Amino acid sequence: MTTKTAVTVRVPAKVNLQLAVGPAREDGYHDLVNVFHAVALFDEVTVTGADSRPEGACAGLGVEDATGGGLAAHVARVPVDGTNLAARAAELVARTCGGPGAVPPVRLLLRKAIPVAGGMAGGSADAAAALVACNTWWDAGLTRADLLELAAQLGSDVAFPLLGGTAVGTGRGEVLSPVESPGRYHWVFALAEGGLSTPEVFAAYDRLRPDAPVPQGDPDLMAALAAGDAARLGAALSNDLEPAALELRPELGAVLECGRAAGALGAFVSGSGPTCAFLAESPDHAAAVAAALEESGRCERAVTAYGDVPGATPV
Ligand code: ATP
Repeated sequence: MTTKTAVTVRVPAKVNLQLAVGPAREDGYHDLVNVFHAVALFDEVTVTGADSRPEGACAGLGVEDATGGGLAAHVARVPVDGTNLAARAAELVARTCGGPGAVPPVRLLLRKAIPVAGGMAGGSADAAAALVACNTWWDAGLTRADLLELAAQLGSDVAFPLLGGTAVGTGRGEVLSPVESPGRYHWVFALAEGGLSTPEVFAAYDRLRPDAPVPQGDPDLMAALAAGDAARLGAALSNDLEPAALELRPELGAVLECGRAAGALGAFVSGSGPTCAFLAESPDHAAAVAAALEESGRCERAVTAYGDVPGATPV
């Protein structure tokens, strides 16, 4: 067993460059073509030993705002009990070690910079980081393939932050094929007050698109990525969930408009929203788009981040 005092893993947020959504399946899930792209907006998950012997392997979980106040309201919405996806990830790793009784109990600390319920898969990112951190802490010996399998059990979006980079997800989004892309892209994210529930956004989508076709990849998007061409990528960005998110949050339309007016190469709702994402030409342009968004008063905060970046990494 380890002699470490703590293990910390840093994990990126994602933005979907394409999110094509099929009709609801009989099991309630949707078939997706989901082009994930990891961006340099990171949560950190730290595992330490715990004194108490809890029912499970996770004796406690704390959440902090890593941005120095910018995400205080977001952090307050994160559950600190066994329903937290990072705690569930820890329990899953413990089970592979023979059950919670077979491993010393741990505490998890999440330091969040990824908006909560913002369509950037922050909870899934924390779960991926907790898988990696607990694997190290308990010397569980799980391979990358093992971790990817556990990730798929936790949720459709948990496998991608283990890989990072850019990848196409099919099925429920969990079957991943990495995409080589030589470019570095400069993004702006407009954060909104209050989250949007992913299941509610999918339900609105089902209402709006009862005739949704089988989702297909977009050759133009893949060509833009292969060429590292930001302008072409900006024109190809797409999100089938955007009309549903806009129906639930009509005010996001003005946020998108504001980014377009500031010259963004592409403007779209990130995943299930309400975060809006903008592709900029350069780091300076990203800073200018972010300033325009903040000055408009139409978003809570605007942050810049480049992509892509590697997945969950011990620090
Ligand atoms: P996705 O894009 O994967 O649907 P999201 O980015 O919209 O997710 P999350 O930040 O993952 O949303 O949070 C969704 C909900 O999950 C939150 O409202 C919260 O109740 C719950 N949750 C569970 N674990 C976590 C976690 N570690 N961090 C944030 N939220 C969590």
